[in-house]
Amino acid sequence: MRVFLILGAPASGKGSLAQMVEKKFALTHISTGDILRDSVFKETEIGLRVKDCTANGTLVDDSTVNGIVFARLQGEARDVLFDGFPRTLNQAIALDSFLSEKGFHLGLVVNLDVPTCVLENRVVNRRICSNVECRAIYNMTRRKTVVEGVCDLCMSPLKQRPDDTAQAFKTRMDVFATVYRPVLEYYSSKPNFRQVDGSALPDEVFNAVSSLYGEYV
Ligand code: ADP
Repeated sequence: MRVFLILGAPASGKGSLAQMVEKKFALTHISTGDILRDSVFKETEIGLRVKDCTANGTLVDDSTVNGIVFARLQGEARDVLFDGFPRTLNQAIALDSFLSEKGFHLGLVVNLDVPTCVLENRVVNRRICSNVECRAIYNMTRRKTVVEGVCDLCMSPLKQRPDDTAQAFKTRMDVFATVYRPVLEYYSSKPNFRQVDGSALPDEVFNAVSSLYGEYV
């Protein structure tokens, strides 16, 4: 089994890109953000614990996240695509240990590079499908729905993520600068790391990344 990573700042387009790549290359997409939001929605024991972090933009602790991820990887037969993980050096090191212990391999690692002013604008305009089985991601300027406020795919109402506020975005960018940057540095020295311009249109980013995946999948 191989593990592919999509790295990038908050609202850099990791989730949208992962949804497109997952379909084209038949990978299992694992978004730690989605898993954590689901657990909050379902008010599980983990959900109650992580609710504040996911709303205010601070990180959930490594042992909770690593526990969720490695349980999810057990028994997975297909190649896996992560978005939003690893996000700390501890998570990256734990993933490396897990892969070598299991004889799994690290595939392509893509970092979506997007200027901060673009990110802020995207956060304010982002809407997501409220149906947890769908989770389609829209943008009120870049990727509009046909009917305003309604998901094109499943017709459920759209909603705004609780951490897509100006205050939570600031916290997420602070976390990105301090905790996530070393993760990018860690992967940037690996031969399978690629920097991609994430400020282009979604289809352009997808095409650029698809041709990179073509070498691997
Ligand atoms: P974004 O990258 O746009 O901030 P995500 O959906 O990846 O959005 O993450 C949303 C929130 O979920 C984060 O702000 C954090 O609270 C939590 N989270 C997601 N992934 C991780 C992770 N790998 N480690 C710690 N917390 C995480």
